[in-house]
Amino acid sequence: MYPPALERLIEAFARFPGVGRRTAERLSFHLLRVPPEEAEAFARAVGESRAATRRCSRCFNVGESDPCAVCADPSREARMVCVVEEPRDVWAIEKARVYRGLYHVLLGSLNPAEGAGPDSLTVEPLVRRVKEGGIEEVILATDPDLEGDGTALYVAERLEGTGARVTRLARGLPAGSAIEYLNRVVLADALEGRREMRPGPGR
Ligand SMILES: [Zn+2]
Repeated sequence: MYPPALERLIEAFARFPGVGRRTAERLSFHLLRVPPEEAEAFARAVGESRAATRRCSRCFNVGESDPCAVCADPSREARMVCVVEEPRDVWAIEKARVYRGLYHVLLGSLNPAEGAGPDSLTVEPLVRRVKEGGIEEVILATDPDLEGDGTALYVAERLEGTGARVTRLARGLPAGSAIEYLNRVVLADALEGRREMRPGPGR
């Protein structure tokens, strides 16, 4: 049906999260319609963003260096680590200016229905970080939805016995919302009211 080059573009878009075949077709046809410079600028932005960014080997955030600017900043409170699902959550919390500790990015959440198990997350490196010492508190700031809650519980269980205090952002966050969309006041309240996590019964 479509020329192979166009089909490859559509398939590439269709692999993006939340993008189905129809949206992929719309995006692809849009790129064919815009002036050539605009399409080339898009292609360049894709290449350059990959070339100019690094994944931090400590916290798994995305930055321009490894370690990232947050991990390398001696004025941050290294005894606190805030655990989030995605790099965009780090940016949301940084933008709100309500937190001065370090981060750990899980790169997702547990979602058994979609085949995302513990191995797809950076829990193991987190446990290692905590065991290395110096971290007194781990704040679980995964999204307040089903996957985020399940992930927080799993991480809390894995951190049992490390000696670090494990807390979860305060309840009262809008259920099903995402950390990245919370405003400054809500984030500050959620951090302020964080509670000790207790892993479930039967352990
Ligand atoms: Zn880092």
